[in-house]
Amino acid sequence: MVVVMKPGTQQREIDKLVAQFQLQGLTVGITNGVGCTILGLVGDTTAVDMDKISINEHVERVMRVQEPFKKANRKFHPEDSVVTVGSAKIGGGNFSVIAGPCSVESEDQIIEVAQDVQKSGATMLRGGAFKPRTSPYSFQGMGTPGLDLLLEAKAATGLPIVTEIMSPKYCELFEEKVDVVQVGARNMQNFDLLKEVGRMSKPILLKRGLSSTYEEWIMSAEYIMSEGNENVILCERGIRTFETYTRNTLDVSAIPAIRRMSHLPIVVDPSHSGGYYWLVEPLALAAVAAGADGLIIEVHNNPSCAKCDGQQSLTPENFDHLMNKVENLVSVTGKTLVK
Ligand code: PEP
Ligand code: MN
Repeated sequence: MVVVMKPGTQQREIDKLVAQFQLQGLTVGITNGVGCTILGLVGDTTAVDMDKISINEHVERVMRVQEPFKKANRKFHPEDSVVTVGSAKIGGGNFSVIAGPCSVESEDQIIEVAQDVQKSGATMLRGGAFKPRTSPYSFQGMGTPGLDLLLEAKAATGLPIVTEIMSPKYCELFEEKVDVVQVGARNMQNFDLLKEVGRMSKPILLKRGLSSTYEEWIMSAEYIMSEGNENVILCERGIRTFETYTRNTLDVSAIPAIRRMSHLPIVVDPSHSGGYYWLVEPLALAAVAAGADGLIIEVHNNPSCAKCDGQQSLTPENFDHLMNKVENLVSVTGKTLVK
């Protein structure tokens, strides 16, 4: 961190500030320029409050030269993290596909879709039991009985289950029943929820908020990791832009940028990014080409009757077709498709 003092600041004011930083365990390098002094703070500055420093009337400017995240930072952990879920792996050259309906609707539906996506090469089953809907009048998900249907589908196929948690009050239930806990885009900055899932033993799939920067997103991962849970998978699911033709805009740059900033694996959700079934394949292939570690895709056995997100759901046949293309492209990128 660099602190630029105002021109003409008296030495005793500089000494006071330096002593304050030293009390916080930091080493301070002092550069006396023409008319102004620059303080270079060395040490762990993650907990230093920049606002408190800029309040000082003798301070001109405060700048961070390092990112505010530590546990998720590639600088301190150069090798890729690999998240293991049952026999599936994500990251470090392992590419995995998670697939299933937007929401769990019935025993027949979830078991049928689970069997279909497994045949095509998915290694995890998705399905929402608790749904974050824009309207309180829309289908809110089956709730706890939905989790039990996911467990039935798991028993029938062996596929680990990925499902969204919306409230800290469900952590115990999810700890018992779920393999990967999804934190949805709308909850990416629900810090109480992040802290609670950070105390769980299950991997967390952290979706990017609708209008969150890379740094905000990684700071949310940092919340989870700072509580002890380092098994975090980041998920780019499209962001809000001025374009209204598509549901969201897939930010392809997020994939190489996150890889540079963090060692955590990144998967892409082309379903919520585009919002239409015909956009899923091109967006999924773009994600693979840009270096994603996996995909999470909505598949429904009867999209026109789906209770949620049918317009962006692939039929099992279309999903199978896509998986053949994904497999070919994954091998071109030098990764291995985990099956
Ligand atoms: C979902 O995966 O069904 C979902 C609600 O996703 P998001 O949080 O990305 O909108
Ligand atoms: Mn959905």
